[in-house]
Amino acid sequence: EWRKIPVRHHSKDELYQMEKTFNEMIDHLRTNFDKQEQFVSDASHELKTPIAIVKSYAQLLERRGLERPEVFHESVGAIESEADRMQKLVEQLLLLAKSKSDSTLTDVNLVDLCLDVVAVFNGAYDRSIKTNIERDTIVVRANAEQLKQVFYSLIDNACKYSDDEVTVTISTDNGNVIVGVQDCGQGIPEAEQAAIFDRFYRVDKARNRENGGTGLGLAIAKAIVEVHQGKLTVSSQLNKGSTFIVVLPVVRRN
Ligand code: ADP
Repeated sequence: EWRKIPVRHHSKDELYQMEKTFNEMIDHLRTNFDKQEQFVSDASHELKTPIAIVKSYAQLLERRGLERPEVFHESVGAIESEADRMQKLVEQLLLLAKSKSDSTLTDVNLVDLCLDVVAVFNGAYDRSIKTNIERDTIVVRANAEQLKQVFYSLIDNACKYSDDEVTVTISTDNGNVIVGVQDCGQGIPEAEQAAIFDRFYRVDKARNRENGGTGLGLAIAKAIVEVHQGKLTVSSQLNKGSTFIVVLPVVRRN
């Protein structure tokens, strides 16, 4: 015996709504797919250069390395430093991929966390980072390792792009904590201030290759801050310096 399958009739309005939702979903998927594609293409492009350099030095080694010691040393040195660069790139790409998925959050005292990072620079890198801290305890929900990475990148940049004083300021406002990393260095041209948070963007490409920059540090930092419901911004004046500002929601403060 046939059982009647009830057919649900949709009104024109409902059909229109469904079509609209469907189109929005497709647009969303397409945008994500385009972004993914762009990412893979950017990453491949960044890896191509060091691979080409390694290859040409290997050929040089083969042709001249045996009879000319200076060629041997130069080539081996270059291959090693390009391999380091590729290693850093791959590590950072993995970090970027992980920043969006890894979300083991605990209560973290942001003040201690920042002071730990500052201590690394003051100790190992022999810089003297100044601090200006409102109180001893400001607790946020966070993945501590990831947040450390954020402040590590910001302070590292401040040191890399200025020779003078770097200051870390921590204050609170309206249920948020505000961490500023300020340097008195070269600054960033206004037209490029938004782009520096893009993957692989470097203001001075040639010089940054020398100091080992990959153009990924700020993209990773921004992704991590956003996963923590926060914001990362910059204010900067050319030849005067830059201040990077992280704003995060506070759980409690003492
Ligand atoms: P990189 O590995 O090149 O430092 P980042 O993503 O950390 O990559 O930074 C992107 C670019 O932003 C840098 O190449 C540099 O041009 C600029 N930048 C970042 N921080 C600073 C700073 N404190 N002062 C001046 N320029 C900066």
